[in-house]
Amino acid sequence: GQGPVADIGVIGLAVMGENLILNMASRGFTVAAFNRTVSKVTAFTGGRAAGKSIVGAGSLEELVGQLRAPRKVMLMVKAGAAVDEFIGHLRPLLSPGDIIIDGGNSHPADSTRRTRELAADGLLFVGTGVSGGEEGALTGPSIMPGGNPEAWEAVRPIFQSIAAKVGDGTPCCDWVGPEGAGHFVKMVHNGIEYADMQMIAEAYQLLRDGAGLSAPEAGEVFARWNEGELDSYLIEITADILAKTDDLTGQPLVDVILDAAGQKGTGKWTSVAALDAGSPAATITEAVYARAMSALKAERVAASRVLSGPTFAAPADREAFIEGVRQALYASKIAAYAQGFQLLHLSAQDAGWTLDYGRIAQMWRGGCIIRAAFLDRIKEAFDAQPDLANLLLAPYFRDAVQGAQTAWRGAVAAAVVGGVPVPAFSSALAYYDGYRAERLPANLLQAQRDYFGAHTYERTDRERGEFFHTNWTGRG
Ligand code: NAP
Repeated sequence: GQGPVADIGVIGLAVMGENLILNMASRGFTVAAFNRTVSKVTAFTGGRAAGKSIVGAGSLEELVGQLRAPRKVMLMVKAGAAVDEFIGHLRPLLSPGDIIIDGGNSHPADSTRRTRELAADGLLFVGTGVSGGEEGALTGPSIMPGGNPEAWEAVRPIFQSIAAKVGDGTPCCDWVGPEGAGHFVKMVHNGIEYADMQMIAEAYQLLRDGAGLSAPEAGEVFARWNEGELDSYLIEITADILAKTDDLTGQPLVDVILDAAGQKGTGKWTSVAALDAGSPAATITEAVYARAMSALKAERVAASRVLSGPTFAAPADREAFIEGVRQALYASKIAAYAQGFQLLHLSAQDAGWTLDYGRIAQMWRGGCIIRAAFLDRIKEAFDAQPDLANLLLAPYFRDAVQGAQTAWRGAVAAAVVGGVPVPAFSSALAYYDGYRAERLPANLLQAQRDYFGAHTYERTDRERGEFFHTNWTGRG
C-alpha cells in the first residue's frame, strides 16, 4: 500500500459522497475513498476522481491504513442501519483518538447514542448535518457538526474549507454542540425548509387562483420579490421554476406536474421533536400535513365532486392583493423561523445543550436550502440578545411583523373567504396571535380537566404552583 497519505477517508460513493470528496480534493486535501459495492471505487478513481488527490481503497482495512493519525473516516451512506454496520466494522480497526464522522441525514437520537457508544472505546464521533444537495456538496454546503467536542479541532480545517462562505469569507460551518446537536440543527433546518416551501406554495396558489396570474406571470412576481426582504434561494428557484416551459406540451412545466408531494421524513421528525418538547411549531407541522393532504390525490379528486365551497372573487385591486400576499409570506416566514428557533431552544434545554443561535443562523446563511438574506437579521438579533426567548420579540422582527400584519390578516381572510386552504399562512398568524395573547382560553381547559379528571388548576389571584380542586357537581 501507499502508507498513510490521506487527510480523511470517505465511505459512500453515491452523489453526496463523491461530490464531497471532489470538493475536499479541490481544496488541497488528500482523500481516501471506499464504498460497500467496491466496483464503484474503481469506477470513481478511474473516472471523476482521475488525476486528483483521491485514492481508492479495496477494503476497510486498506482505507484505514491510508489515513494519517488521528484518522478521520466520514460516512456518506444511507441513514439508519448502514451507518451502524459501518461503525461496527470500523471500531476494531481504529485506535483511541480516531474520529468517525456521519454526514448523512441521521436522526439526532442516533447520533447521541453513537457518540456515547464510541466514547467507551476512546473513539470520537461527529454527527454532522450537510445541506445543499449534490450541487452544494460539490461547491460548498452548509455543514452543521456536533458530537464529541474533542474532534472539532481535527475536522475543522477540512469542514470549514469545503463549506459555503458568506460575507467576508465566513464559513457556513461551525461547531454546534455535543451529541446529536449537529443532526438536531440539521433536522430543524429541514423542518423550516418544509415550512418555507409550503408558504411559497400558498403564495403561488393565491397569485394563481386569487390574482389570476399565469405561471410565468407569477414567476415574474417571485423574481421581483427576490430583490427585497424575501431574497432567498427558495424564492429564486421558484421564479425559475414558474418560468420554465414543458418541452412535451409547450405549457408551463409546473402546470403539468402532478400536485402530490413526496417526503423523506425529516420534516416529520421535526414535528415529532416539537411535540416531544412541547414547542408549538404548528407551521412546520402544517407543512408536513399539507404534503400528506396533497398525496391523497385520488380522494381529493373524488371529494371535489361532492364537497362544495366558494369561488375566489377577483380582487378589486390586483397589485394591492399581490403586495398583500408578499407581506403575508414575509410575516409567516418570520413566525415559522421563530418556531424553529424556539424548538431548538426548548429541545436544547431538555438535552442540556448550550447552542449559539446566532452562529446557527450564520451556518444557514449560505450553502443550504433555506439560505436567505434575512438570516443576517436573525444572527444580529441573537448576537445582540443571546438569551432571546423568541425571534418575534427582537426589535427588527417585531417591527417587521407590525408593519406586515394588516396585509397578512387580509391575505389570510381573503383565502378563507375564497375557499383556498392556507394552512401555513394561517397557522403562522395563529402562532403570532397566540404568542402575543396575555390571556388564552386555557382557563376553560383547566376547568374542564378539573371537572372530569380532578386534574386541579392554579388561580389568577394566587401564587403559581398552588393547586386547587373544585367539586363541580356538588356530588360526593
Ligand atoms: P444514498 O442513496 O442515501 O445512499 C447510497 C450509499 O449508501 C451508497 O454508497 C450505498 O452503497 C450505501 N449503502 C446503502 N445501504 C447500505 C448498507 N446497508 N450497507 C452499506 N452501505 C449501504 O446516497 P446519497 O444521496 O449520496 O446520500 C448520502 C447521505 O447523505 C444520506 O444519509 C442522505 O440522506 C444524506 N443527504 C443527501 C442529500 C441529497 O441531496 N442527496 C442531501 C443532504 C444529505 P452501495 O453503492 O454499495 O449500494
